[in-house]
Amino acid sequence: MVTKTGIERNISLNDYASFADEELLDRIDKLSARLKGASIQHINSTFIGGGVAEILQSLTPVMRSIGLQARWDIISAGDEFFGVTKAFHNAFHGERIDFSERMKEVYRLTSEANLDVVDRNADYVVVHDQQPLGLTDRKAGHGGKWVWYCHIDPVNVDARLWEFLSGYAARCDAAIYHMAEYAKNLGNRQFFLPPAIDPLSDKNREVTAAERERVLQELDFPRDKPVIMQVSRFDRLKNPFGVVEAFRRVRADIPSYLIFAGGAADDDPEGQEVLNELLQMVGNEPDIRVLNLSPTSHLEINVLQRSCDIIVQNSAREGFGLTVTEALWKGKPVVAAPVGGILKQVIHEQTGLLAKNGEELAACLRLLLKDQALARELGRRGKEHARRNFITPVYLYNWLALMDELRV
Ligand code: UDP
Repeated sequence: MVTKTGIERNISLNDYASFADEELLDRIDKLSARLKGASIQHINSTFIGGGVAEILQSLTPVMRSIGLQARWDIISAGDEFFGVTKAFHNAFHGERIDFSERMKEVYRLTSEANLDVVDRNADYVVVHDQQPLGLTDRKAGHGGKWVWYCHIDPVNVDARLWEFLSGYAARCDAAIYHMAEYAKNLGNRQFFLPPAIDPLSDKNREVTAAERERVLQELDFPRDKPVIMQVSRFDRLKNPFGVVEAFRRVRADIPSYLIFAGGAADDDPEGQEVLNELLQMVGNEPDIRVLNLSPTSHLEINVLQRSCDIIVQNSAREGFGLTVTEALWKGKPVVAAPVGGILKQVIHEQTGLLAKNGEELAACLRLLLKDQALARELGRRGKEHARRNFITPVYLYNWLALMDELRV
């Protein structure tokens, strides 16, 4: 059982002043005054691992720091439920699902067992993704505004699954999608809110020379050749296998390393399987390293991202792709697949490079390994793009604007 102790960060909006434009801070001030004292409850399925948990670790305390009563809770569930919701997750991405009555039953029973997680007095209840969506059974008679926040790309969701889940989602007053392209027709209000990274978290803050050295030694980070890296959960949809294939072509003429830094989230039972396949694929090739990190290896990931030369995100699908945001924020040149939220972040030849297949990926890697001035310039522009659009203070403002609009 995972508990929240120490998970939420000890931070306030003031801590972000140096990253935010004056004008944004003014707009936040005005909205905070209007919303002062409002209570908001965020509910998801894990405190650790994956993009949603990362966001809530910062968003919840920052909301509190400007006068909101913000709380974060999770539903409790067993392996069977997480197996079901992982199948749902994959079916959102268009994978086939053997959608059985048993799955519906497991979903319903777990939802029912968690109904008391809902704060009866919250002005806003936000259910993140599909795992806690069954809690909308508590909406009738609840006085608050309910919001479903869809953090994944729902465009290719399996039709039968959607028929089942949309019944729950449509009860909410509003739905949030990362971008307009993801909107489903639920008949309720719609908002578009890309997520954000926290520039002060261990994952993204500046690191000291001593911290860097310690982590690099601990992880035996290679220093004699350029390093290409992909950070992501071991998940088929992140397509690490395609990165290995592209890398094998590149290293034939430009000596370099490839590192995979990943782990498995609590709610993702498939992680181990993909990790094993990847390990088998790379065998004992000395220039490919696979790091299986613990879910709390934030500083390690930070140091790795800052120390490598190129960051790849070769996803087959991607809700938003916070690993890309993290890479941009560190001023690294990014090569990514043109899918989902990556398209809002990597603007080809401006804030990074887009590669739609293995051949293009290999060509982009070669280009960046050879042209360091281009790599630096893409990194610089990528960082500014992330600062203006995808960091905590911007995200907070977007939330406040949404809450304010929802009141009427
Ligand atoms: N992450 C991590 N450890 C890992 C792999 C990923 O802490 O082994 C983090 C990663 O740095 C990012 C988040 O988990 O902050 C993943 O978010 P993203 O939107 O990229 O993908 P998701 O896992 O939600 O599909």
